[in-house]
Amino acid sequence: TPYLSDRINNLSESATLKMTKLGRELAAKGVNVISLSVGEPDFNTPDNVKNAAKQALDDNFTRYSPVPGYPELRQAIVNKLKNENGLDYDPSQIVVSTGAKQSLSNVILTLINPGDEVIIPTPYWVSYSEMVVLAEGKSVFINTDIDSDFKITPAQLEAAITPKTKLFMFSSPCNPTGSVYSKAELEALAKVFEKYPNIFILSDEIYEHINFIDKHESIAQFPSIKDRVIVVNGFSKAYAMTGWRLGYIAASKEIAAANDKLQGQTTSGTCSIAQRAGIAAYNDGLESVKVMKEAFLRRRELVYNLLNEIPGVKTNLPEGAFYFFPQISSFFGKKDLNGNVIKGSADLALYLLNEGHIATVGGDSFGNDNYIRLSYAASDESLIEALRRMKEALAKLV
Ligand code: PLP
Repeated sequence: TPYLSDRINNLSESATLKMTKLGRELAAKGVNVISLSVGEPDFNTPDNVKNAAKQALDDNFTRYSPVPGYPELRQAIVNKLKNENGLDYDPSQIVVSTGAKQSLSNVILTLINPGDEVIIPTPYWVSYSEMVVLAEGKSVFINTDIDSDFKITPAQLEAAITPKTKLFMFSSPCNPTGSVYSKAELEALAKVFEKYPNIFILSDEIYEHINFIDKHESIAQFPSIKDRVIVVNGFSKAYAMTGWRLGYIAASKEIAAANDKLQGQTTSGTCSIAQRAGIAAYNDGLESVKVMKEAFLRRRELVYNLLNEIPGVKTNLPEGAFYFFPQISSFFGKKDLNGNVIKGSADLALYLLNEGHIATVGGDSFGNDNYIRLSYAASDESLIEALRRMKEALAKLV
């Protein structure tokens, strides 16, 4: 559209939201669509959290909030980072936002000048590269694949660094692959960053509690680089609070102050009621999180076994989050019943939607076209049915 800004014209639409929208459209026509395209826990927000929000309303706790968040919430976050992650922060180093997504965007806008390079391992969460586009930075990708469990090595990291590198950003547990970096692997990456004091590290830890191997490890735990690490986290995944829009950063005082300044001119402080709910979530402990994790673990086994029964599909066993990222490139070049050739992962995702009535997302939007992403944040029954449909639809490709 010519009259829109270059900024917007150069931006891609979110593929996950697009597939979700197409799935909804098909469902509105009466088709029974199973959605495996969204990154959303299928649980309800815990009762204690909802009650805190109801109380906030009754208390008329409905005014403008401080831009970086209420002091009680920032203190609850400091306590959480200490108790759960062994990380020391002062409340002045915490900036609360309308979700990890806003925090990621804030940090990029805070640090990146036009032309600065941002290193992103692929596959990555869809919005990372587009946030860099908005900041007029340049994404530099490090490609990984299923054989390395979608994790980068220190040597790959070092090879991607140039004098223009300003930021490295990644998620562990990872969306879309579910891969989790161990403490030793993070330490090896930290050793590389020690040699490059001008590079910052944006660590997206939104899936920390959905980790099936061990306790969560943060790259901020290494003192030699801690001041350059910006930890991003939030309440969406751990407490099934996606619609509340609540996230935060923990960073150096300077970066926190810069994020506060940016937010002060854009969104201001996030919803006061959601903040009260967040305080309850963090102060009341991890019971509901444990229940969720158990369900995700059971579904991971279920989907893993069903995926392994589909000829032509290759998958690893994800160690965290609630996604599979199976390799599906063996279907490229095949034809559907109408003679259309499957040219890539987006074609395959569209085919699975139209033929199998399951919504997935092509790996191309995550920077790796040989794969598709399936979210298993769905009931056991719908997962079984979805994987049955997937197997059947894929078998029709010739
Ligand atoms: N980071 C990753 C890797 C995600 O998958 C998501 C949500 O899908 C977010 C951040 C955004 O979370 P929030 O709802 O807190 O904005």
